[in-house]
Amino acid sequence: AAGLYLVATPIGNLRDITLRALDVLAAADLVACEDTRVTGRLLQLLGLKARMTPYHDHNADAARPALMAKLAEGRVVALVSDAGTPLVSDPGFKLVQACVEAGIPVTSVPGPSAALTGLQLSGLPADRFLFAGFLPNKTTARRAALKELDAVPATLIFFESPHRTADTLADMAAVLGDRLGAVARELTKMHEEVGRAALSELARRYAETSPRGEVVIVVAPPGEIAAAGPAQLEERLRAAIQSGS
Ligand code: SAM
Repeated sequence: AAGLYLVATPIGNLRDITLRALDVLAAADLVACEDTRVTGRLLQLLGLKARMTPYHDHNADAARPALMAKLAEGRVVALVSDAGTPLVSDPGFKLVQACVEAGIPVTSVPGPSAALTGLQLSGLPADRFLFAGFLPNKTTARRAALKELDAVPATLIFFESPHRTADTLADMAAVLGDRLGAVARELTKMHEEVGRAALSELARRYAETSPRGEVVIVVAPPGEIAAAGPAQLEERLRAAIQSGS
């Protein structure tokens, strides 16, 4: 049926594409995507051909009217990100808003999500969480943003680039207190890995060598420090002895 379809795509493992995503991408009159090369490669790997049009942060305002015109004509438009779930730290929110206002049907074709995958593997409480996306790049602004989250009684989920991971973890330890955290990298890929430790310990670990590939940082809720397991306590004790404190 006509309308806008928000189609999740793999975050690393091609086989995470859903059967419904394949159906919708095959049937779409137009696939709006962040980068036609990235999505073109994905479609090729999936054995699909589709008309693509760029829709990204820098052209969204200019490109939206043409997409809305297609949708008003009764076309099927699929929106995809380079990877993962559209709209989550990715373009699409204003397009959905415009469709809602215009009475055009919007449907989600759910699938891979780096934020939820990182949360699942973090080993931290997952019944209540706050997804905070990317923090500011500069330390002053980053610490201010973290301060706003300090009292939130929930697990916190962040996206971060590998080369900023150690600095961000250090700021987190300073502002939020030395809570337990997890750094999940290369999710669904061959070298998937999750580091779980106190934030200060993770900061030390990734200051030596930046994590390779993309990362999700997950931070325990306030007060979770006391709930550290024996392994974490031992690790923290060893770190304290090593640093001579
Ligand atoms: N909308 C996407 C989603 O739902 O997964 C996220 C897009 S955001 C621009 C990209 C960020 O997601 C990366 O910087 C990283 O923090 C995280 N990410 C994406 N794929 C990942 C993976 N395979 N492993 C770890 N983190 C990943």
